[in-house]
Amino acid sequence: MSPVKAAHTRKTRLTHTPPVEIRVAQPITMQRPVLVLNASYEPINICGARRALVLVLKGVARTEEEQGAILHAARVRVPMPSVIRLLEYRRIPHQTRALSRKNILLRDRNTCQYCAIVLNSGELTLDHVQPRSRGGLSTWENLVACCHNCNRRKGNHLLNELTEMKLLREPRPFSLHTSRHIMRMIGHSDPKWRRYLYYES
Ligand SMILES: [Zn+2]
Repeated sequence: MSPVKAAHTRKTRLTHTPPVEIRVAQPITMQRPVLVLNASYEPINICGARRALVLVLKGVARTEEEQGAILHAARVRVPMPSVIRLLEYRRIPHQTRALSRKNILLRDRNTCQYCAIVLNSGELTLDHVQPRSRGGLSTWENLVACCHNCNRRKGNHLLNELTEMKLLREPRPFSLHTSRHIMRMIGHSDPKWRRYLYYES
């Protein structure tokens, strides 16, 4: 082999990305949610196992916790990750998500903020805590998930005019704190996630 061709072959081998070649694995394992930690161990995201595996194989992240399942590819045995950690710290902007019906319901976990009933998205409405007719704005702080019953009962009243109706919690913008709540809900059943999500206890 000429030196030029040898160098070329070497280069090809180096830039070769293994994940593309992986065809094995049970779909269930590949779809499993994986917790993504920042380099600082702060939980920042959830992704699918396939995506997590690509990050690990590319050297962007390392596996902190394994699922237990092993992926057998051509010549490699890769433990499927349950928790991965980015090797380089990524600055996460203090993200506020778009104000939308979907995100309000997500923040309030499909729970009527007055009577605590949990319903499907289609059975919930949005309530302006301070009614629009009385100057209330459509903001994160003034919109809550609400069942139709409570919505009717509340009508055009302010909360301080109704002694029997109270908010479960003060409405806040969707924040990283809220995202962590969602991570906890998803990761609730996985003991391997717990130590990263409940690190304050
Ligand atoms: Zn209700």
